[in-house]
Amino acid sequence: MKFGGTSMAGTERIRRVARIVKRQQDAGHEVAVVVSAMAGETDRLVNFCREANPLYDPAEYDVVVASGEQVTSGLLAIALQALGAQARSWLGWQLPINTVEAHAKARVDSIDADALIAEMQKGVIAVIPGFQGVSEKGRITTLGRGGSDTSAVAVAAAVKADRCDIYTDVDGVYTTDPRIVTKARKLRHVTYEEMLELASVGAKVLQTRSVGLAMKEGVRVQVLSSFIDDDAPAADTIPGTMIVGDEELEGMDMERQLITGIAHDKNEAKITLTRVPDKPGAVANIFGPLADAAINVDMIIQNVGRDKGETDVTFTVPAADLARSMDLLESAKEAIGFNRIIPDTNVAKISVVGVGMKSHAGVASTMFKALADRGVNIVAISTSEIKVSVLIEEDYTELAVRVLHTAYGLDAVEA
Ligand code: ASP
Ligand code: MG
Repeated sequence: MKFGGTSMAGTERIRRVARIVKRQQDAGHEVAVVVSAMAGETDRLVNFCREANPLYDPAEYDVVVASGEQVTSGLLAIALQALGAQARSWLGWQLPINTVEAHAKARVDSIDADALIAEMQKGVIAVIPGFQGVSEKGRITTLGRGGSDTSAVAVAAAVKADRCDIYTDVDGVYTTDPRIVTKARKLRHVTYEEMLELASVGAKVLQTRSVGLAMKEGVRVQVLSSFIDDDAPAADTIPGTMIVGDEELEGMDMERQLITGIAHDKNEAKITLTRVPDKPGAVANIFGPLADAAINVDMIIQNVGRDKGETDVTFTVPAADLARSMDLLESAKEAIGFNRIIPDTNVAKISVVGVGMKSHAGVASTMFKALADRGVNIVAISTSEIKVSVLIEEDYTELAVRVLHTAYGLDAVEA
């Protein structure tokens, strides 16, 4: 079981979490619980580090920011004990959760779960702070923002859990953002692949890395709400959304739609370079410096060359990296040989995702036609086996999502 920051924000909420956990144990499960810091706490701790020294030592940053989860794990153990349950906390270095690579963005390498499993079998509820681990050198590490989801999946894999229930402030994964489309439906199942695409294109329910890990380790993940009454349906009845493998889904979900979900992402920026030489190596000259700076380029279009052997190249980068990208390109202006550089942050990426499109034609054309009918202009397109994304003017985001939700037959029918 994993509980996020809003579920752990304050004693009252931690008591509710304790009741939910105790109920699972009473239902006959052996349970391990992974917790986040209280909502807002990690931001607060990060700010302390920045104030102390903007060029802080990442190893000491980890010591500071990992503390939020230490507090909530201890508090949850106390709250569980108050309900008469046996519970204890296991910090990342105590289990241990071994991590590799850099501070502030460590990756889980292995978890020694023997002691944990032995205690769980004796009926002791294990409470584990998410987000943290320990390095080869014995120092505290953290997994990157939102990393508690990944901790939970890693622990679930290590104890060979039947299920990893991720309790959060929404009650599942929806066909699209319910704040935009009131007829959005909660999905009963999503495949790992679909969830990976949805997570990476702006449906921020789970940390993307946690979904990749769940897929690799075959951990069955349920996303469900922690904001429930004591008599709400038990987690075992699967009130939330199950994220599972393709094979498990086949034949299970008869009403499967061609498209599973529609995501939007306003955190993209578009850059156009005009009059780039239309010759081998030109594009490599553009994207080399960006790659070296670890800037993630997403959509790319190169126009048909005009006469004089020149072409325009347009691509997108995360909006947060726009200034840095512009800088790098300006410095490489001579090497690349472009005329003008035109930035645009007034764009949004809309993506339709579904494993069904692997075996169906016409998914993209439905999208283009639905948008055209409403006068929405498409400025860039990219596709994968299970996703079609278009870049449009940001002001049309909500309209586009609504129109596509209807076009693919995803609207809930009125009950
Ligand atoms: N507390 C950490 C964060 O806010 C990790 C997490 O909650 O997943 O990023
Ligand atoms: Mg989170």
